[in-house]
Amino acid sequence: MPEGPSLVILREETARFEGQQIVSAHGNTAALDPARLDGQPILSLRTFGKQFIIELPDMALRIHFMLFGSYRIDERKDRPPRLALGMEDGGEMNFYGCSVKEVDPDLDAIYDWSTDVMSDQWNAARALKKLRAAPDTLVCDALLDQTIFAGVGNIIKNEVLFRIRVHPLSTIGGLAPAKLRELVAEARQYSFDFLGWKSDFVLKQHWLAHNKTICPRCNIRFVKAHLGHTHRRSFFCERCQKRYPR
Ligand SMILES: [Zn+2]
Repeated sequence: MPEGPSLVILREETARFEGQQIVSAHGNTAALDPARLDGQPILSLRTFGKQFIIELPDMALRIHFMLFGSYRIDERKDRPPRLALGMEDGGEMNFYGCSVKEVDPDLDAIYDWSTDVMSDQWNAARALKKLRAAPDTLVCDALLDQTIFAGVGNIIKNEVLFRIRVHPLSTIGGLAPAKLRELVAEARQYSFDFLGWKSDFVLKQHWLAHNKTICPRCNIRFVKAHLGHTHRRSFFCERCQKRYPR
């Protein structure tokens, strides 16, 4: 599943389509009749967390890649697209296995950009406040909460917890204030490291915990388990990642 930084790369790859007209539209989405998009100019292409947003004059489309969604720009996959947009300059955007939804074109009314870890408007103090209001939440669930950390996915979660040496089953209330600030800061910092590595095609070689078997700090096996309400895969070291409260 693409995480926030991957969506930023998608936006960069499609930036030239801003201001261009859609000259063909088709796909098997049930959310709308793609023919409606034909001839419409693209006002902007934006991201919010794991969502890609196509802004048109009277409507906006939200593409969510869910668990198995993918896309191809200026090329195609050998399968029917959920939505395929042909552009004025001959380029195309093809989306597969994703959720397509028409949303209110007043984007500022529906999106709180300050919760997006990749956004210029990211507000760490606001994230801290939301975390403090939910002291019983497990850190592995909190990091995946898109109302606090929009864009953070499972890879970022595992790597952030390894970096700050926190066990995924720690509670938010169990973390000392400085540790909690570190969690918030690293959620954003790692997301930008992810973006840089992914842009250079070297993301996976920088993984220290996600999908790994041996802790590089302790040289012992990582524990792998589906944890928290979210039941997503966690990789962690029981020696160097401390469980709070102690
Ligand atoms: Zn370790």
